[in-house]
Amino acid sequence: MSDNNPTIFGKILRGEIPSTRVWEDDQCIAFRDVNPVAPTHVLVIPRRHIATLNNATSDDKPLLGHLMWVATQIAAQLGVAEDGYRVVMNVGPGGGQTVFHIHLHIIAGRPLVWPPG
Ligand code: AMP
Repeated sequence: MSDNNPTIFGKILRGEIPSTRVWEDDQCIAFRDVNPVAPTHVLVIPRRHIATLNNATSDDKPLLGHLMWVATQIAAQLGVAEDGYRVVMNVGPGGGQTVFHIHLHIIAGRPLVWPPG
């Protein structure tokens, strides 16, 4: 599953480093970002290692949809769904991606401006 995943998120999936988990199922986990940019900042990651969104295949379409659905469930669970929140995936260095295991950011709890930086 994630045994050959060299990223820090691989270590989190294998339990080698700690995380504050808010969701766990057979396809993904979600945990608090260690360096939050807003009062609520959670990362949703698939158990399967996909380096960037560009590496997702047609077979990954159900998984990608599942990650988005999980984001809605976590937003409700954390009480930010009604006020609103942002779901973001950074793709590649130019998109601001620093950990090469795809992840959704769920960000909420402060006014979010557009366009983002
Ligand atoms: P990105 O820049 O989109 O690749 O996002 C990577 C995110 O992972 C950043 O927001 C980091 O703060 C976060 N992060 C890095 N290491 C950890 C960790 N050990 N636990 C939780 N979040 C982390």
